[in-house]
Amino acid sequence: MFTIKGKTGDWELVIGLETHIEVLSESKLFSGASADYNPTVSPNTQVSMVDVAMPGMLPVLNEHCVEQAIKMGLGLNAEISRHNRFARKQYFYPDLPQGYQISQPADEAPVVGRGWVEITDDEGNPKKIFIERAHMEQDAAKNKHDMHPAKSFVDFNRTGVMLLEIVTFLDTKNPENNSYISSPDEAEKYLRAIREIARALGVSRANMEEGSMRADVNVSVRRVGETTFRTRTETKNMVSFKFIKTAIEYEARRQIELYENGGTVTQDTMRFHQDDGTTSVARSKEDALDYRYFPDPDLLPIEITDEQIERIRSTMPELPSATRVRYTTEFGLSEYDAARLTENTNISHWFNTAVNGNAKQAKAIANWMISELFAHPENWDEKNEQSGIVNEMRIITPSDLSELVEMISDNTVNGKQAKEIFIKMLDGESGSPKEIADKFGMKQMTDTGAIEKIIDEVIAANPSQVEQYKSGKVGLLGFFVGNVMKATGGTANPAIVNEIIRKKLA
Ligand code: ADP
Ligand code: MG
Repeated sequence: MFTIKGKTGDWELVIGLETHIEVLSESKLFSGASADYNPTVSPNTQVSMVDVAMPGMLPVLNEHCVEQAIKMGLGLNAEISRHNRFARKQYFYPDLPQGYQISQPADEAPVVGRGWVEITDDEGNPKKIFIERAHMEQDAAKNKHDMHPAKSFVDFNRTGVMLLEIVTFLDTKNPENNSYISSPDEAEKYLRAIREIARALGVSRANMEEGSMRADVNVSVRRVGETTFRTRTETKNMVSFKFIKTAIEYEARRQIELYENGGTVTQDTMRFHQDDGTTSVARSKEDALDYRYFPDPDLLPIEITDEQIERIRSTMPELPSATRVRYTTEFGLSEYDAARLTENTNISHWFNTAVNGNAKQAKAIANWMISELFAHPENWDEKNEQSGIVNEMRIITPSDLSELVEMISDNTVNGKQAKEIFIKMLDGESGSPKEIADKFGMKQMTDTGAIEKIIDEVIAANPSQVEQYKSGKVGLLGFFVGNVMKATGGTANPAIVNEIIRKKLA
């Protein structure tokens, strides 16, 4: 368990995350403007009259957005609410021309109910983090305060793009239930798990750097062994894993110090300062009451049917967490290899295509991918892990690699020759591995009679090494194998060479 040592004892952390992901869709939640939110688009070029709340404009629901919410909910192992409504959450801010945000009512079940994601805790054991809910809402505009000394600007491109806000659960009725985030590292792992699911399902790019994933971080502390939760603070709008971890730790230490000096923590909204990693009070916490939520009269309630849910479920791909389990159990891959091969969907797709049902070759293909392909960036499009627009392998195709691996296992070529073929392919040599092997006359020498003859010559030429080997210096085996391989121009089958030498020198 992660704890922080105070002056008067050990403290544990209780963390709740409210994560916003920008949902992928052609158009916005309630308007036809493009929802391709990304910071490189020129400001105010993807805005409709609805987005900027021109008088008389009415919102029209984009059903695809609702389906995205359902999909993510299923990915979070959650219940989907059949009846949903939209409500107005009212506040004034320059980034909100409507004067309210359309969200789901705070006091009704939102589209996604109780669910969970699995992470590994700080000791490496699996741990479920419970999700309380996820709801649909509109994103606001982006205020820009750093473009002019005396003016602020507003970019409405993001206005009205659908956000899904995913909130972790804290079991206040049962405070021993530890299915919540309890360390900075667990917070990062949780966010990575959410990102992985969102990307695999095509629900969001979930990219913190571009702002398509942001989190509000709730933190409280309690003494180890305490059975109730204490007051938390909330640090808003965090956009990097590193800052989130720094903020959690800083906030926890600040609260511990307060308690240990006889003070109390108030339920404040904090601001994080990137330059020195500290937090300070931004405002005291507002209650749901202040927003005067009420059902939006412009929008009809949404009814979701079982058929709709099942149809969406049937289109969902296997999630990376399930793929990893399959790779380790069916193919005998290590956890590490399974993780590397599921880093993004293009990689696992490439691997699956190369294996093509031939489970016997899966491990060899995995080894070649991880130790050779990944080591040669020229075989990849630019690595762009952050944006989720992922590496597409080229030059060497999945079928090239499976053919090469097959050639090793059926003794057409040995490992050394296979590597030469591989390098030739990387250098742009055309043709399949078989064709390249033929073209360059690469063939493994498996004729045991011929190999034996060369072995006899090597043994005859090195009498003193033979003596030493026989008197116990068995490490010299490599010396003999090396010489034989050299004499065959590297074409002999090393396994056969090994076996015969061992026998002859026994
Ligand atoms: P609000 O929407 O008003 O910010 P919620 O009750 O929805 O509040 O909680 C927001 C997040 O804070 C949730 O993830 C919840 O689990 C977490 N949270 C609630 N109480 C605590 C606490 N005492 N310590 C840490 N996190 C908390
Ligand atoms: Mg909140």
